[in-house]
Amino acid sequence: MKRTTGRNRAITSQWRPATQAVRGGTWRSEQGETSEALFLTSGYCYDDAQTAAARFAGDDDGMTYSRLQNPTVQMLEERIALMEGAAACRAQASGMAAMTAALLCQLSAGDHVVAARAAFGSCRWLTDSLFPRFGIETTTIDSRDNAAWEQAIRPNTKVFFFETPANPTMDIVDLATVCGLAKAHGITTVVDNAFCTPALQRPMDFGADVVAYSATKLMDGQGRVLAGAVCGSEAFINDVLLPFQRNTGPTLAPFNAWVVLKGLETLDMRARRQSENALAVGKFVETRVPKILHPGLASHPQHNLAMAQMKACGPIFSFILDGGREQAHTLLNALELADISNNIGDSRTLLTHPASTTHHGVGAEGREAMGVVEGMIRINVGLEDPEDIIADLDQALTAAGL
Ligand SMILES: *Cc1c(COP(=O)(O)O)cnc(C)c1O
Repeated sequence: MKRTTGRNRAITSQWRPATQAVRGGTWRSEQGETSEALFLTSGYCYDDAQTAAARFAGDDDGMTYSRLQNPTVQMLEERIALMEGAAACRAQASGMAAMTAALLCQLSAGDHVVAARAAFGSCRWLTDSLFPRFGIETTTIDSRDNAAWEQAIRPNTKVFFFETPANPTMDIVDLATVCGLAKAHGITTVVDNAFCTPALQRPMDFGADVVAYSATKLMDGQGRVLAGAVCGSEAFINDVLLPFQRNTGPTLAPFNAWVVLKGLETLDMRARRQSENALAVGKFVETRVPKILHPGLASHPQHNLAMAQMKACGPIFSFILDGGREQAHTLLNALELADISNNIGDSRTLLTHPASTTHHGVGAEGREAMGVVEGMIRINVGLEDPEDIIADLDQALTAAGL
């Protein structure tokens, strides 16, 4: 195996993310294959016992076991790190495996976390239900409010954890300010960048320490596999994350890594086109609903901040109907083209009612505090012709009395 992007790191590390997405991290075997090889192997054999001993002692670079290393997975890790502008990356079995590993690998009993109130349901379960069992306290705040981050800091605050834009309220966190504040207090920032990917937003450019992904979303982008990734400094990935990951085993399967590698090749194109489509669809929806939460539209209270941090608005936005769950369900049931589905980042247009699906588990009180109201619908705009998506929403909105 030979790293084709390792020949001259001074040059290849300067490639822009869209180039890295196609070429970054590619290794080739002696066959010279064009497309990345899929290594479906759990283990590795050694020429002699001394080589085995040297590998386990860390004196030889070769691989030992696929929970620890796999060539296909490693290609994905190198590619994501290069796209992110991160020193290192480790792939994970899913987005939630990535969030769990990125947080638990560095937290201990007695530590304190400040987390955004508006977050993916399972991320809230980590901070609200899992961490207290291990003596880790969390303060959840309105992540749009820079002063709230500062006020929540305690002497034992170890981590800031947030998404931007947040799922599904589309709250935007001021990356430069909040990451700068964390740095000044020796706090590690962990950003869940699932809504953007490095194609649309690179939190490390604004001072983030750790960026964690659900690669299930835009990175695969075609609704095929679950995958995750954690990016950070060499010291964080190798000394803090890796001991946790190697021994707890949230390892990504080589096949899933290969699918995501293929997905990344078209990421830049998909992210741009889906953002364009989401803008066109958003402009239409805005004329028909009482409230829309769309970072690409001037009506979003943090539109300027969002556009300063993001290259484009991304495929996802939410809107709110006055008629609560019943009207939202009526609209969803009338869809002809778009599917009712809680996935995002897919090339298909998908709509969901967060209160009864992704945020069901947060409970009514939690949803209320986050702003996930009963009339909210979240849409992932896909790669279909935007005129067809608009026509479908037009008739579904009409069916819902709008
Ligand atoms: C989907 C998602 C996750 C979880 O990712 P999985 O791959 O489903 O485990 C975490 N955070 C955000 C923002 C997500 O959208």
